[in-house]
Amino acid sequence: MRPFLLPPFSWPDIFLMNDQQLLRYSRHILLDEIGIEGQQRLLAAHALVIGAGGLGSPAAFYLASAGIGHITLVDNDTVDLTNLQRQILHSSERIGQPKAASGRETLLKINPEIEIIGLAERAEGARLDELVRAADVVLDCSDNFATRHAVNRACVAHRVPLVSGAAVRFDGQVSVFDPRNAASPCYACLFPPDQQFEDEQCGTMGVFAPLVGIIGAMQAAEALKLIAQAGATLAGRLLLLDAASMEWNSIAIARSDVCPVCGTHPLAG
Ligand SMILES: [Zn+2]
Repeated sequence: MRPFLLPPFSWPDIFLMNDQQLLRYSRHILLDEIGIEGQQRLLAAHALVIGAGGLGSPAAFYLASAGIGHITLVDNDTVDLTNLQRQILHSSERIGQPKAASGRETLLKINPEIEIIGLAERAEGARLDELVRAADVVLDCSDNFATRHAVNRACVAHRVPLVSGAAVRFDGQVSVFDPRNAASPCYACLFPPDQQFEDEQCGTMGVFAPLVGIIGAMQAAEALKLIAQAGATLAGRLLLLDAASMEWNSIAIARSDVCPVCGTHPLAG
């Protein structure tokens, strides 16, 4: 078991952070919603980030700078010139390198005090299961429905909260699916796996560069709130952004009894 700090806190807990850490995280510690206790939870936590591209870049940036103590960044792709318009973890001199290694290098420059594992592999099957089971929160920053459904199934199976984001053209969406909460829907309640949704990927459809920054940063915000136990999360709500008009829509989403992943009467198969 990881030492995940839970209340009540005793005064010696503050000595778990050294002077440099107290300075580094002082602007979080000043927040009533986070404070020493919340920052300790962040430092003790393990976040799994699936994808080191447009969404994974800003998401991982903020997780690392904010002091998530253990980050696993998974991506089987390499850095390409066409990525650099929006995938801010990477740079021109890293073209051709694995995104997982490039991302790890960037994140360690921001915060050398945390553990960052870069995995240049495709997370699926038993391996994905193992990675999700070891995480306190999962950020799905992938770009296809097959991966999103696989990540959701593993999160439901292991009751690990999932922060899901997507962005293409000028359209973005973000939500939280928290299987620890019986009322929270899962990703498959919203997008049934047996329905055919067209994968709309940035590579073919195009994407407005700052849109992935907005959505990825929101994924980091939700993950940090989940771990620090600060505020209220997006669980049960889907936020939709039209970046062309810069208008947000919030849609309530309910858990489905017939959801094949989390429903009380799952369909066969
Ligand atoms: Zn479900």
